[in-house]
Amino acid sequence: MLFLTDPRLSRVPGLIHGFGRRGFTENGLFDFARERGLRPVLLDQIHSDLIHIIEKEPSSRPSGDALMTRTPGLLLVIKTADCLPLLLWDRRLRLAAAVHAGWKGTCLRIVRKTVEAMRSRFGTDPADIVAAAGPCIGPACYEVGMDVREVFLSAGFSELLFVPAGRPGKYFLDLPGANARELEEAGVAPPPPTLPSSCTHCDPNSHSWRRDGDPTRRMFSFIGLQP
Ligand SMILES: [Zn+2]
Repeated sequence: MLFLTDPRLSRVPGLIHGFGRRGFTENGLFDFARERGLRPVLLDQIHSDLIHIIEKEPSSRPSGDALMTRTPGLLLVIKTADCLPLLLWDRRLRLAAAVHAGWKGTCLRIVRKTVEAMRSRFGTDPADIVAAAGPCIGPACYEVGMDVREVFLSAGFSELLFVPAGRPGKYFLDLPGANARELEEAGVAPPPPTLPSSCTHCDPNSHSWRRDGDPTRRMFSFIGLQP
């Protein structure tokens, strides 16, 4: 299986989406898109809260961590290896968004800001959004230091997202849980605790930056409307 899908999004006519596994390479992604008449739109991802609304294929990769479009023929792409890839779909307006949420972007509330941008720019009602989450590092594997916990707590996140890891100053962070809460607070039903083998660190079919330490290995998540 080259990529995972969410059955709620698979049922939408004309919508293409998926969460690529480790066998789904960048070349594979470009072939996949070309065969369907889609142009991939990738970001220079910088762990920010920068969101790009895309109307036509950009001439270069914008810097940022979320993409949004209503234009058929564009395929929004997010690269991850432990960070959380989120796909959002406004089923009423046929508006798609893709978000890269690592701990920094999560702490900057990129998911909530993306929902807000969908609302302010296009008039999205959050209740119309279908949110799908791809595999990311799981709460039992994502050890972070006290510094990361402090940044989250000062940003107003719950201390319940952190469980002591059994070593001084170390905690496990629940990254998917943090983003599910963010979606809920934005008025969006959180993604079902989805897809099989969802911890990238445990799953050999996933790339994991923490496990492999190779910055060139990334998984590709994508969403777009067929032309
Ligand atoms: Zn794990």
